Amino acid sequence: MPLGVKIPEKEVRRYMGLRGPVDISPDTDAMIKKAINALEKDCSPKHVSRAFPVTVEGNEVRFADVVIESRSLARNLAGCTQCVLFAATAGPFCDMLVKRASVTSSAYASCCQAAGAAAIEAYCDLINDKIKDEYEAKGLFARPRFSPGYGDLPLENQKDWFRLLDITRNTGIELTGSLLMVPTKSVTAIIGLSPDRLPCVRQGCESCTMSAACTFSRKE
Ligand code: SF4
Repeated sequence: MPLGVKIPEKEVRRYMGLRGPVDISPDTDAMIKKAINALEKDCSPKHVSRAFPVTVEGNEVRFADVVIESRSLARNLAGCTQCVLFAATAGPFCDMLVKRASVTSSAYASCCQAAGAAAIEAYCDLINDKIKDEYEAKGLFARPRFSPGYGDLPLENQKDWFRLLDITRNTGIELTGSLLMVPTKSVTAIIGLSPDRLPCVRQGCESCTMSAACTFSRKE
């Protein structure tokens, strides 16, 4: 499987706005499965990551030569000594598939779009787990990943990710003038690493039962 990970059908349905036990037609079910199979088979994912020491003072986060003023990121990285920046893409196939499908079937194009979103999320989870395990063995514990554009961390900061990770050369992802990534199924993120073990969940603070009480929750 070139994607290297299964695309959860439940997540595809969620991206299509089909939450809970919703009955879908056999046709829609078949289109979802077809989109998943195509993406699992023909995606060509890539990623790049790099670790940096990080400091947090008040709302100011510093790593490499970057200084970021963000209350939500500072809160999420408080107590971290290292961070890992990463970028990942599912590759150009998904955009091609959606474009091709939209000529003949907008319903199938929607399934492909949703399956692509679930594909890059599943691929990021895979990388996230590898980073988590690698650093846990060194006594550093991962906080949930945090992407530019989330909370008060501007999308503009993606430029720092592109520069520090040489993303375009390493993965083929390009950043447009309006800060969109091409291929569209691409993600940039930072993962904080702290010597303090928290009961973090990979799905993020929004899904964590500790969220209301946790000082480090990005969900304020
Ligand atoms: S709310 Fe949960 S996931 Fe978020 S930082 Fe706290 S323990 Fe970790």
